[in-house]
Amino acid sequence: MLKDLLSPAECGMLRSLIDGAHNIVICCHVNPDGDAIGASLGWAEYLKTLGKEPAIVVPDQFPDFLQWMPGTDTIVRYDRRKDEADALFAGSDLVFCLDFNQPSRTDAMADALVGAAAPKVMFDHHLAPDMPGCSLMVSRTEMCSTSEIVFRVVWQLGGFDRLGAAFAAPVYCGMMTDTGGFTYNSTRPGIYFIISQLLTKQIDKDKIYRNVYNNYSENRLRLVGYVLYRKLVVDRARHAAFFTLTRRDLLDFHFIKGDAEGLVNIPLQIKGLKLSISLREDRDRDNLVWVSLRSVDDFPCNKVAEMFFNGGGHLNASGGRLNCSIDEAVEITKRAIAHFEPTLK
Ligand code: 5GP
Ligand code: MN
Repeated sequence: MLKDLLSPAECGMLRSLIDGAHNIVICCHVNPDGDAIGASLGWAEYLKTLGKEPAIVVPDQFPDFLQWMPGTDTIVRYDRRKDEADALFAGSDLVFCLDFNQPSRTDAMADALVGAAAPKVMFDHHLAPDMPGCSLMVSRTEMCSTSEIVFRVVWQLGGFDRLGAAFAAPVYCGMMTDTGGFTYNSTRPGIYFIISQLLTKQIDKDKIYRNVYNNYSENRLRLVGYVLYRKLVVDRARHAAFFTLTRRDLLDFHFIKGDAEGLVNIPLQIKGLKLSISLREDRDRDNLVWVSLRSVDDFPCNKVAEMFFNGGGHLNASGGRLNCSIDEAVEITKRAIAHFEPTLK
């Protein structure tokens, strides 16, 4: 069985915050991924069983391959419906912050979030939580995903029996995507106890896998081929690799959000490779390069993200951004790899 995630005091605090709230907002980080969306939808389902009507507000667009999840049509995008979202934050009496560790991870939404007078509750699994004024911080870096935290909290609160597939599918999806289909960060037995419980809610886990990983456009597949053939730079001596995706590349392959998802993992299939870095030019804004990093074993790509790319994240999966040209980003990347040479070798 599962060990309790919350202390008795945290549990009591959470119950009383929920009991007293009428206008609940659930929000997550910019560029929402499967875990951010899955945890938000799953937690909303739980709150609905308590008679609440939570609103889910996300900073910007999430990938098409997450659209299949029940309830995504109700999600409010901050970049599209700012006034409505601002009003939701201003009128809220409880805000759940899911899958991020600091307000800056919500980008343009941060002011509305920080400015909301409502008490805030964080469910997150990233290092170094820093959420000023947060009433309850459930920050558990050992969890595979925020979706796992959502499951465990619901389980501990005794809410699981009343929930169905609309809860189980997004929670499963979040756990699956944050572990690369249960290929990293996913060795704890508790994870498989949770999966066995989620499967009792008549979800089709194989279909969920296909919905997420085998649901790309032809353009995306050709983009992968192009990157591996033409763009990948492998530093064999230092066991590292990187590639760029320029605005030109994005245009050539009719790039849509999500098309680069998972690309950064592929170079790690090279024997002995420890670090892979993706540099992607923003489609609209000049001098903005999105950085994704992946590593294996105990090589800390989050340290690379912190030192060189204004970011952070987990030991083996992190991200950041650079305000410079793609050529400068390449130079910074080379310097980063050289800097970490002693631990990469
Ligand atoms: P991705 O490469 O998928 O965008 O991000 C991988 C992981 O790094 C995710 O868990 C994400 O939360 C984290 N991450 C991405 N960008 C940042 C960032 O700027 N700061 C921090 N602290 N974490 C990030
Ligand atoms: Mn996550």
